[in-house]
Amino acid sequence: MNNKRVLVVDDATDIRSLLADYVLGPAGYEVLTAEDGAKGLEAARRFAPQLMVLDYEMPGLTGLELVKTLKKDGIETPAILITSDSSEDLVIKAMRIGVRDFLRKPFEPEDLLEAVKRAWPEKDEALRPALSPADVLERRVRELRTLNKLGKSLAAQLDLEQVLKQVVDAAVILTEAEEGSLLLLDEKTGELYMRAAQNFDEEMARHLRLKVSDSLAGEAMRSRTPITLSSANALKIATAYLVKDLIYVPLILNGEAVGVLGVDNRFVNRSFDRDHVRLLTALADCAVVAIRNASLYEKTQHERDTLDAVLRNAEDVVILVDTEYEILLCNPAARRAFGISNNGSVGKPLSKVITHQDVLALFEKDCVQGRDCTSEIQLENGKTLYAHLTVIEGVGRAVVMQDISHLKELDRIKSDFVTTVSHDLRSPLTAILGYVELLGRVGQINEAQGEFINRIVFSVQSITALISDLLELGRIEAGFDVDRKPTPLRFIIRYAVEAQRQHLESRRQALEVDVPDTLPDVLGNPLRLKQMVTNLLDNAIKYTPEAGQVKIRARGDGDLVILEVSDTGIGIPPAQHTRIFEKFYRADNAGGIASGTGLGLSIVKTIVDQHDGRVWVDSTVGEGSTFTVVLPAYAPEQS
Ligand code: ADP
Repeated sequence: MNNKRVLVVDDATDIRSLLADYVLGPAGYEVLTAEDGAKGLEAARRFAPQLMVLDYEMPGLTGLELVKTLKKDGIETPAILITSDSSEDLVIKAMRIGVRDFLRKPFEPEDLLEAVKRAWPEKDEALRPALSPADVLERRVRELRTLNKLGKSLAAQLDLEQVLKQVVDAAVILTEAEEGSLLLLDEKTGELYMRAAQNFDEEMARHLRLKVSDSLAGEAMRSRTPITLSSANALKIATAYLVKDLIYVPLILNGEAVGVLGVDNRFVNRSFDRDHVRLLTALADCAVVAIRNASLYEKTQHERDTLDAVLRNAEDVVILVDTEYEILLCNPAARRAFGISNNGSVGKPLSKVITHQDVLALFEKDCVQGRDCTSEIQLENGKTLYAHLTVIEGVGRAVVMQDISHLKELDRIKSDFVTTVSHDLRSPLTAILGYVELLGRVGQINEAQGEFINRIVFSVQSITALISDLLELGRIEAGFDVDRKPTPLRFIIRYAVEAQRQHLESRRQALEVDVPDTLPDVLGNPLRLKQMVTNLLDNAIKYTPEAGQVKIRARGDGDLVILEVSDTGIGIPPAQHTRIFEKFYRADNAGGIASGTGLGLSIVKTIVDQHDGRVWVDSTVGEGSTFTVVLPAYAPEQS
């Protein structure tokens, strides 16, 4: 069987015989002919030609309808359409259906032979214009060199403009085209605009906008397959742009067509072949990689710029160091606060840039599980910063500081006010209590009156306790008890425990004391230290149900003394663990259990702070709490 069978369908007898007897027959093709669409359809089904040459306008079935009907049957024989109408509309319609090529009437026999060779099914490579082995080799080397060069430059470039230009240049070089273009989709308008071009008229490149819905480039996008047109069909692309041959390949990014890469010839008669389509497809892939890289880079850059702007304009001090304590970032607020010069702090060791000892000490802190990560930093200009350290895994350490000077001032004013008022309230309260106690001596008091008197006494005692606490706190905060001496904490604990014996017994609670005789002394104020232990013990007893357990333990650990007061009481909700050390703060679950002023732990914290120690709580609601106090052990050279 002759494997070069062509079916020619045309209602014009002269064209049929011209093609069969003078053009295709002598060129070695077996030619079948049919005189209208219906007969052509039958012949195509029966004789299975490898290629069809079809007239477009025929009575009954047009050439296009013939192709469409065959396609429905699953027959995809390549077809060349002969037509006198080569409007872009028709071309697009035909391309969508799968027509391989066009010949505009009148045409030369050579045009037809060329078109047949180009459109011949892939398997039959023998019919395509052959290149000599040397030509093939040279072409491949050139392709590889260009692709290699492009690949390298893609890896090194982040400038999308440059990369896309290189892709288009490579497309023009490799396909030996006259012009190259890369069109991207403008999502807002649904139009394609020229993003990079080679040999295009600049003015034209700037203003070119093609509708995706009705242009050849748009068709390549919509069908997501390459589109080729050959010199046989000089076409107007978009408006008033004449080309002879062209290829458009779609750019597919994440499954979406985002543009097209195209090459064309306007003047020379040099058709593109399948190799060119293949190369252009490879280049389109490169362009897509570049577009993706560039957009990722752009996004990262944008995020970086935003972060940079936030840090630059932030009022808060931000300092970031790496794991070697070398500065990675130091924002303008940090430079202002610590008098750091504008340039040159990045990359330097922290201790060379910042001399403030409290800041350096904060950076060194362990900061385990969010504990021990804060510090108040006093600046020379009188301002107070509240600093928070965060350890960032794999990066280093960051300290953020907020100016809390105004809060400090407010606190001071509040304390002054409270102290004054408390002081002034004390005398009238003493008078009330005195006179209430005298009531019984001046006359008979009935039962109800006695009950009322008891209530007055209880209330006055509560107010007096509150006032005493307030005045006490005021005194401690003011730092009146400056005298420090080596104090044996074990005795302090013993006195405090003895003072609470009655309280413990009234609540039938067991107390376990575990304090070694070898416990190191601390340098401090014995009265205040006893007050600290008493407050913790008092709370442990108060917030533990009857018959519960209270423990007090102390031990030396290196240059530290650690004191723990634990109980099996009501516990404290996690969110309130830090708040309970604030003045007047009482946890949600405390109210119904025991009365209190909310000042006991503020007093504890102030005393601990003044002894250069730390205090925190571990607690589980319903299970119990452990308050831990860590104080520096006394070293004789301290005194
Ligand atoms: P108060 O006078 O209310 O006891 P404190 O300042 O001593 O004030 O304690 C503040 C709050 O902390 C208490 O109101 C209570 O909610 C909680 N608290 C303190 N110690 C304990 C504890 N051992 N068990 C449970 N809650 C406690």
